[in-house]
Amino acid sequence: MYHQVDLPAARGTQYRSLTVHPKSFARQMRWMHRLGFKGLSMRELAPYLSGEREGKVFGITFDDGFRNVYQHALPVLSEAGFTATNYFVAHQLDGSNVWDADKNMPQTPLMSLAEMRRWAAAGQEVGSHTLNHVHLPSLTDEQARAEIARSRQELGSHVQQEITAFCYPFGEYSAQHCQMAKEAGYLNATTTERGLARTDDDIFELPRVGIWRSTNLLKFFQKCLTQYEDRKRG
Ligand SMILES: [Zn+2]
Repeated sequence: MYHQVDLPAARGTQYRSLTVHPKSFARQMRWMHRLGFKGLSMRELAPYLSGEREGKVFGITFDDGFRNVYQHALPVLSEAGFTATNYFVAHQLDGSNVWDADKNMPQTPLMSLAEMRRWAAAGQEVGSHTLNHVHLPSLTDEQARAEIARSRQELGSHVQQEITAFCYPFGEYSAQHCQMAKEAGYLNATTTERGLARTDDDIFELPRVGIWRSTNLLKFFQKCLTQYEDRKRG
């Protein structure tokens, strides 16, 4: 689970840890490639998650659709022959992370429609992160359903691919939101629960391994290749 890939913001900036240095990201991808692993989008990872296929693979996801991911991560992914899923906020294309404004987090540009289309045309996956990056549990069922279902339709109308990957904003959801995602036509959903995904995980409640600015290469391998983060799971 990545968010942003860019040069670090000024010291003391809120949520500075969410931004991974472009050189760190490139190093992480090149090492995984060198070790024989293939990075995959949620769409391509699905048969491995269901146990249908086996192989040296790992999923790559980006939350929120930041422009700096288009600038700094896409060339690295293309070079390695990896695919990734970026979860876009349907009503914030060419916008910014307005949902973080109240936390004093700097506003950072999100991909435009044209950039999202180029992301998709490059073989990368467009996933949904709702229409407005909402707190799903604080909405009525009707509002939540609209955020989940309409974002899938709108994003799908912009790109030449069916939208099948969903990600709960802020990692907040309940069982009924999993059900809504299923009914809307998604095939998988990710959370902010920490850990490596396993074949016995619920495909609508997949955990992820968080990669932060401070995640050095050793930590990266510990997190991605060992049960290091699973100690936090029950
Ligand atoms: Zn988000």
